[in-house]
Amino acid sequence: MSVIFDRVALIGIGLIGSSLARRIKRDKLAKRVVANARSQATLDTVKRLKIADEVTPDPAEAARGADLVVVCTPMGAYSEIAKSIAPVLKPGAVVSDVGSVKRAAIEMLAPHLPKTVHLVPGHPVAGTEHSGPEAGFPTLFEGHWTILTPPPGTDTAAVERVAKLWRACGAKVETMDADHHDHVLAITSHVPHVIAYSIVGTATHLAEQTQSEVIKFAASGFRDFTRIAASDPTMWRDIFLNNRDAVLEMLGRLLEDVAVLQRAIRFGDGDTMFELFSRGREIRRGVIDAGQHIPPAPHVAKKPSRSRPMKTLKKKLSPESHRPAARAKRRARRVRSRA
Ligand code: NAP
Repeated sequence: MSVIFDRVALIGIGLIGSSLARRIKRDKLAKRVVANARSQATLDTVKRLKIADEVTPDPAEAARGADLVVVCTPMGAYSEIAKSIAPVLKPGAVVSDVGSVKRAAIEMLAPHLPKTVHLVPGHPVAGTEHSGPEAGFPTLFEGHWTILTPPPGTDTAAVERVAKLWRACGAKVETMDADHHDHVLAITSHVPHVIAYSIVGTATHLAEQTQSEVIKFAASGFRDFTRIAASDPTMWRDIFLNNRDAVLEMLGRLLEDVAVLQRAIRFGDGDTMFELFSRGREIRRGVIDAGQHIPPAPHVAKKPSRSRPMKTLKKKLSPESHRPAARAKRRARRVRSRA
């Protein structure tokens, strides 16, 4: 694969940033990769893993002279990062990101950037429940969508270069309007996390109240929720802070649908239930036909998410992906044995 950008700066190098770094280094997609993180511990880990050519605690130093800057931090840090890198950005440079909400990404980044750079926001729809640079792996994006949401009027060559990088990382690329992205992701990713966080919270509360063994006898459906609910709390707090309207709208629709099912259960309306559940099967078939049932490329991180939510639950959860844990582990073993 040929070089797509000479110098790439990754601002934030956790799960997503380090997966990008690994893929760029592995396939020589850039001449140099510079990594920025807040903590010395993360920078030391990146050095040890040899996934970047340079590391620095200063985002501006990382961005200086870069042809591509990708912001890979939780979204709450975006404005400060944009302010600090703006004065050193090279004319013609491309600034991108990997954040899960796109309208807010544009609103936090664009006002601070000079007119001489191209903003091409992006969202790789792939992930795991793990965090930090050790959790990343070069095949994370393989077969998954990366959605680009360039504001109207963005230089098409800059958009195509970013798309080329993601395709070289194994992703399928689609370009869409930021608001459309946020609506679609609200129902496919954000609302499922609301449900997972809520159901796990309710079950934990019930277990505490009744001293019953809710967790011990967790069935597969509940286990999947615990995996989703194990996602990084900082990242998800920032997602809900930044996609409030779309999430509330989708949640409202969901609650209406839940009420229909609740009523059917209350009145023993088997026909309504059967129809709803049949529709569920059809949708699952559609997901499989679209190839979206494939879990993110397998990996078992040595280090779990540093924030460790839901300590009472045995297993940590999942991110924007929904994969049965056993299947993921089996796939991870296969990959490890190949490595
Ligand atoms: P992560 O593993 O927790 O890594 C975050 C990185 O950002 C770390 O290098 C961290 O540095 C740095 N950072 C955190 N706060 C910062 C701040 N205030 N200023 C500067 N740097 C800061 O996170 P991630 O899972 O890679 O997620 C990063 C972004 O990707 C998020 O915006 C998220 O919405 C998006 N995303 C995540 C997933 C997923 O499944 N995880 C999927 C798609 C998109 P230190 O280690 O030094 O603290």
